[in-house]
Amino acid sequence: MTIPGTLDNHIGGKEVAARGGGRIEKFDPATGELQSTIARSGAADVDDAVKAAKAAQPGWAATPAVQRGQVLHTIANLMEARADELGAVVAAETGKSRKEGKGEVGAAVQCARFFAGEGQRLFGRTIPSGTPGKLNLTVRTPAGVAGLIIAANTPIANVAWKLFPALICGNGVVLKAAEDTPFTASWTARVALEAGLPAGLFNVVHGLGAEAGEPLVVHDEVDVVSFTGSTRVGRRLAELAGPRLKKISLELGGKNPFVVMDDADLDKAVRWAALSAFSNAGQRCAAGSRIILHDAIFDAFKAKFVAATEALKLGNADTDDLGPVINARQLGNMLAAIERAKEKGAVVLAGGSRMDRPGYFMMPTIIENFGPDDEITETELFGPITCLYRATSFDHAVELANGTPFGLTACIHTRSFDRGLLFCERVRAGVTVINAGTHGSEAHMPFGGRGLSGNGSREPGTEALDVYSELKNIALNVDPAQT
Ligand code: NAD
Repeated sequence: MTIPGTLDNHIGGKEVAARGGGRIEKFDPATGELQSTIARSGAADVDDAVKAAKAAQPGWAATPAVQRGQVLHTIANLMEARADELGAVVAAETGKSRKEGKGEVGAAVQCARFFAGEGQRLFGRTIPSGTPGKLNLTVRTPAGVAGLIIAANTPIANVAWKLFPALICGNGVVLKAAEDTPFTASWTARVALEAGLPAGLFNVVHGLGAEAGEPLVVHDEVDVVSFTGSTRVGRRLAELAGPRLKKISLELGGKNPFVVMDDADLDKAVRWAALSAFSNAGQRCAAGSRIILHDAIFDAFKAKFVAATEALKLGNADTDDLGPVINARQLGNMLAAIERAKEKGAVVLAGGSRMDRPGYFMMPTIIENFGPDDEITETELFGPITCLYRATSFDHAVELANGTPFGLTACIHTRSFDRGLLFCERVRAGVTVINAGTHGSEAHMPFGGRGLSGNGSREPGTEALDVYSELKNIALNVDPAQT
């Protein structure tokens, strides 16, 4: 599968160039070479896409949710049948291996199937009334037009987690694709059309965040916004949505603690720590970027972890462990953050530099010797960089774990049932794990965080239905005189 040299927007079922004619260059992360030029959209293009979604939405809303689910099943079937092709698109755009790309397609298919099934279960409630003869029903109704903005790190999963719940709830969709993974989104829009999704229901607009993302958030005809990306941009979008009283779901960054206690299985903990910190080149909101070690095992863990990290293979073959980061800017930001930390006395135990080859390969990096309030502790780097901290007790480990303004995922390694559950209870995070990695969410589970990691919503899982639908209460009154 080759990525098209030029890529336009997908609006109303057609490929259309941006009205202003502008283009953005998108580079291959594995080689640093120009991969494609994509439409540089602005407010007028967003307006076209929103109009297309608004025109198509009433017909879709009138289609029974069970039938909407059948269309989602067909999309899932096509994605599955073409998993090699879509996996190759994901791999080419991100620089990850084809095996990883295809694995991500599998997760997206699961998501499509889960929400297709929700079409048969779009449950409301019946609520008893204090008034004789009155029955209340609470039903879900579509929000209207959903404006979706996503990050590039797991491109097809990010599309799926928002698109499928939005569609099953009966909405029209405008997606502002991540500028680093544009074709994954366009590919999905083309396949959805082929699967029978009416034209105009799923529109993809390409472009830069400030130029193509903000107009989507402030557009009067966009009823709900869902954003996955950085806390910095999430805060800006919350400011835009606030005065407009617009519903907005924010899935933001993390600085996730991975705690290892003195009674942990160290080899297992090292294996999971490496996966948590470095898989997908650390470009996961759920990455284990703070490794908190009990004093008693600090040195033993450190030695094993450094050895495991140095053994990781960089590259984009199926046998490699991690690929490049997504673009030159991100790579530069990471290298600069490491230099600043070093100037303040931090010690690099592994990595610390880019790999000497073309593309944006960052060596998996472990750092120690800095304070819990230093910049490197407080800032998400979104790359293969993790930091070590020393805890003197369980309580101290929990205190360190809760020591940043983020609250997305958290993991503890311990053989103690009590410590494991107490940690999950006390740690401030939306996703907690005992004896595995700082990740592991699935399409039917709620994912999201607290503090700077989000604004309280959860996607996907059935909880995502609350983001993309509006509840309506219907009162039925029975008049006994009519019997
Ligand atoms: P980013 O915030 O820079 O960009 C994300 C998306 O927002 C892109 O499509 C971008 O074009 C758009 N955008 C940028 N500025 C915008 C603006 N002013 N208005 C509207 N849209 C704008 O993030 P990134 O660096 O591309 O992605 C990494 C971030 O995403 C990390 O912080 C990571 O933790 C987060 N993330 C969170 C989750 C989650 O579920 N919580 C999942 C994946 C990634």
